Amino acid sequence: MNLISFYKSSLNSLFRGLLSLIYKENCCICGCSKDDSILCKTCAKDVQMLSAFVHSKISGVEIYSVFIYKNIVRTLIHKLKFDHKKAVARVFALFLFDFFNKILENTEQSKINKINLQNTVIVPIPTNKKNIQKRGYNNVYEIASEFAKIANLKLCPDLLTKIRDTKPQFKLNKEARKSNVEGCFQVNKKIYNNETIILIDDIITTGSTIYEAIGAFQKEDINNIICITISKAV
Ligand SMILES: [Zn+2]
Repeated sequence: MNLISFYKSSLNSLFRGLLSLIYKENCCICGCSKDDSILCKTCAKDVQMLSAFVHSKISGVEIYSVFIYKNIVRTLIHKLKFDHKKAVARVFALFLFDFFNKILENTEQSKINKINLQNTVIVPIPTNKKNIQKRGYNNVYEIASEFAKIANLKLCPDLLTKIRDTKPQFKLNKEARKSNVEGCFQVNKKIYNNETIILIDDIITTGSTIYEAIGAFQKEDINNIICITISKAV
């Protein structure tokens, strides 16, 4: 970086810092700025978390979802995914943390209670490189990373990688979704140290993507997994 671009970038950050002192963050649902948050307290009251029990199983792995994919949750997912509202990731991570603690409380239902939290890693479902370039970030990674910080758990995004690009799943029917993601993930076993894996995704619809991700782990004989998605489509 030369001196001129250094000054330019310093001025830019100074300018952004000053702006944030003047302008509060607006709620991306109702537009108010009273709570200086991307989701104000009033709108937050309108989102209902699901019960923190096992919702389904895929290849023997427990699947949980924090919300139903509708109304405000649907809008928030779209804001994070398509509208550059990166701050939504932290909002979801806070809900996820609350939900995760409820899973831990449900001692009889979940095998997570037998899991040593010191030996647990958070793994976001990877997305296409093209999407990351377009958005400037990976929406699921952002949620997982914020969640890991709040829950004080280790984030391990390199454990699961995408080895080829896939089409957007929402455009496809159930059968096409399955073949679209078939074999698209790979596990980097070299960096795996017998941790319990908490797989994170934003939405589960037919479950094809999660089925493939779980399959990639099980192929490497890794079975200590649970999966939490922010939402589930009904
Ligand atoms: Zn609001």
